Amino acid sequence: MNVISATCRDEVLSALADGHTSVLAGGQSLLPELGGRSGRRLVDINAVAEFEVLAEADGTLRVGPLVRHRTFESDAVTGPLGGLMRRVVRNIGHPPIRARGTMLGSLAYAHPAAEWPVLTVILDARFELTGPGGGRTVPAEQFFTGPFTTARRPEELLAEARLPVLPDGTGVGYAEDRRGPGIYPEAAAMAAVTVADGLISAAAIGLVNAGPCPVRARTAERALVGSAFSDAAVLAAADAAAQLDANLSDLDGSERRRRQRALQVLTRRALTQARENTGP
Ligand SMILES: Cc1cc2nc3c(=O)[nH]c(=O)nc-3n(C[C@H](O)[C@H](O)[C@H](O)COP(=O)(O)OP(=O)(O)OC[C@H]3O[C@@H](n4cnc5c(N)ncnc54)[C@H](O)[C@@H]3O)c2cc1C
Repeated sequence: MNVISATCRDEVLSALADGHTSVLAGGQSLLPELGGRSGRRLVDINAVAEFEVLAEADGTLRVGPLVRHRTFESDAVTGPLGGLMRRVVRNIGHPPIRARGTMLGSLAYAHPAAEWPVLTVILDARFELTGPGGGRTVPAEQFFTGPFTTARRPEELLAEARLPVLPDGTGVGYAEDRRGPGIYPEAAAMAAVTVADGLISAAAIGLVNAGPCPVRARTAERALVGSAFSDAAVLAAADAAAQLDANLSDLDGSERRRRQRALQVLTRRALTQARENTGP
């Protein structure tokens, strides 16, 4: 392997300019994939101090390329957004993976069963991509284009994720099924539900491993907005979330029914958690 150690953003960008060099961030997905094969050009970004940015301003959380998963286990991010990230992150891999792996590495890798891509899509996050021609901003929903594929061009760095902060009064929840510790989930659901004056004013529901790209359960969200956060509303939204035939159309009938049932149960659990921690 030919590894360039960069110490600043410009060195990273000039290494990427040939279109055949890959960023080495935490290495938790890239190195197992390479399996020690030589010949690949990598640019190691781990010494670029400016990439450690994690800052909140004007209702937006900015996350740089060297913010490790583990950071989100602490109270580094406050309020309902921090609460949702803490619930999600403790399910990613196992502690050594969370200590090395980065949030932006997970977004760039775009594994269909990864948690962060879904979280960024349901929150309407925006991504900053920087390349030789300058920078551009891509909404999360347009960034993920298929399993392991994104709108990022080979010569671009995923330079920052910008996540809108969730307002007070938002309850959050996360539930998942997995076959064992330290592996990707079979399926998962996450929810952020805002209540104002006794009624749901906004709802974001995401499903993990429910399609080739992160799935946002918009019908379920619409079923909630304007209702009281009742048992009946939770059940109706969970039913709606499970009706995602288009995304599961590659599965045969019994497998699709099993997956739909799982998504229904997981959405109900995530919403029930959200209802329990909806604060004033
Ligand atoms: C056993 C195991 C279990 C796991 N379980 C889970 C799980 O349950 N959930 C989950 O979400 N993940 C899981 N992961 C993956 C883990 O979250 C990785 O940390 C993550 O996918 C990649 O982050 P990284 O920083 O290690 O990136 P790397 O491995 O360094 O890079 C991954 C890819 O992204 C590119 N890349 C990285 N950063 C950038 C950037 N800033 N700009 C452009 N390209 C970039 C690299 O070039 C490479 O193609 C697991 C991994 C393992 C090995």
